[in-house]
Amino acid sequence: MCLFCKIAAGEIPARILYEDDQVVAFHDIAPQAPVHFLVIPKKHIATLNDLDTEDKLLAGHILFTAQRLARELGCESGFRVVMNCNEQGGQTVYHIHMHVLGQRQMHWPPG
Ligand code: IMP
Repeated sequence: MCLFCKIAAGEIPARILYEDDQVVAFHDIAPQAPVHFLVIPKKHIATLNDLDTEDKLLAGHILFTAQRLARELGCESGFRVVMNCNEQGGQTVYHIHMHVLGQRQMHWPPG
């Protein structure tokens, strides 16, 4: 079982923000902004390249969960969502996750 599957299964502790039958959201262990949490599907999907058309509703649910939690954590003045895909995209955990970062000024381009 991968690291994020273990978090989704409650086998590894995490600072959980939200959970339902499809997704889990939890604070990132190494936050890069005052608000930095991850939204993951409970279903194991290794990278964005592995997302299937049957996952369309799940992908939308991840996005709406990110939007709602960002609002609840006071990020209405702005926030950033990031999904790193594969090695060159900077992905280190191979279970898709949406980063949500807020409460500081973001810059472009990212590194
Ligand atoms: P990636 O580089 O886009 O794959 O992001 C992986 C993220 O997972 C990084 O921001 C890590 O800090 C975070 N992370 C790794 N292990 C844990 C953990 O056990 N709990 C919470 N976040 C984690």
